[in-house]
Amino acid sequence: MPGFSRRSGLACLLATSGLLAGLAAQEIRSGTTPLRWKQHDIRRPRPPVVEPAAGPIEARPPRDAVVLFDGSNLDAWKSPDGGPARWKVADQAMEAVPGAGPIETRRRFGDLQLHLEWATPSPAHGKGQDRGNSGVFLMGQFEIQVLDSYQADTYADGQAGAIYGQYPPLANASRPPGEWQSYDIAFRRPRFDAAGKLLEPARVTVFHNGILVQNNEEPFGPTSWLKWLPYEHAGDRGPIALQDHDHPVRYRNIWLRELPERPAPTAEILARPKVIGLPAAILDQYAGQYLLDPKPSAPKATIAREGDHLTVSFPFRPEPLTLEAISETEFDMPDTYGRFSFLKDANGRVSGVVFRIGDSERNLKRIGP
Ligand code: MG
Repeated sequence: MPGFSRRSGLACLLATSGLLAGLAAQEIRSGTTPLRWKQHDIRRPRPPVVEPAAGPIEARPPRDAVVLFDGSNLDAWKSPDGGPARWKVADQAMEAVPGAGPIETRRRFGDLQLHLEWATPSPAHGKGQDRGNSGVFLMGQFEIQVLDSYQADTYADGQAGAIYGQYPPLANASRPPGEWQSYDIAFRRPRFDAAGKLLEPARVTVFHNGILVQNNEEPFGPTSWLKWLPYEHAGDRGPIALQDHDHPVRYRNIWLRELPERPAPTAEILARPKVIGLPAAILDQYAGQYLLDPKPSAPKATIAREGDHLTVSFPFRPEPLTLEAISETEFDMPDTYGRFSFLKDANGRVSGVVFRIGDSERNLKRIGP
């Protein structure tokens, strides 16, 4: 898989040493962002350093969490080739074993909230990308960079908290090497139509040590190196993968919550009651002021006729809202699950209206035209 294999790690090292520098200057394709930076442009401004609050960064998994690592074993993980995860577990943490390759979850996930904690080696070793490098791959495709960026420089789109090669973090919220740091990530997977055409890119939000570093960003495509790659529909789920970049980076307390799809309204729910036309004389009967609660000093709603329909306005929503007649006494709101049902007294005179909205119902008394 591109991006988190040892091979790409080696390529990064070669690039850092300048051997492949010429390739990085390739022309970028025009996309939705015309002013897109080239990958790894060293001129790209570094984000400001923001010191995170002192104190623990742990977040315990809520009841519905899928716990991926609780400090005891790598049962939830495997090598991409299907073999066992070849990282080590010690002191309630897992540690990348240089040369062992990446690990990925056995289960696959789509939209999620992910928490994990990581620590880069101490004492620090190396510089640039060769310093505490690892990464968290969402759906196995989108890398959130893990790197020792504490008082250590590299290109902006490759430092800790970057969506690698695309979006630098909004802040450098790094803690010193050896200290535990946290990522809290919200991920919305890309959406495709049945033919595999991209409908919506992925979206990524990341908090690094409690500080927002990626604010609902849309990756251009999967993490790739030297070249933008387009989105490809590879299913609605993928593994969480952790990169082996030849550095013994540690992880602990890894859990996620799978996020449900918001249900869309059915065609039956979307079907509106038939709107009818009423004569102006009938509509005019309903015009007037109505008390919003039984107290005489209560705020008032105003119902008026505008041409061939009624409107209602409230003190807190003074611009008139359209009411659509669905019977001689029932009126529906087009945007809100709300309905007005007018009441008449024994003399046939309009005395009030029942206003239902959501789960509430109010009887509004008519106090005059
Ligand atoms: Mg990395």
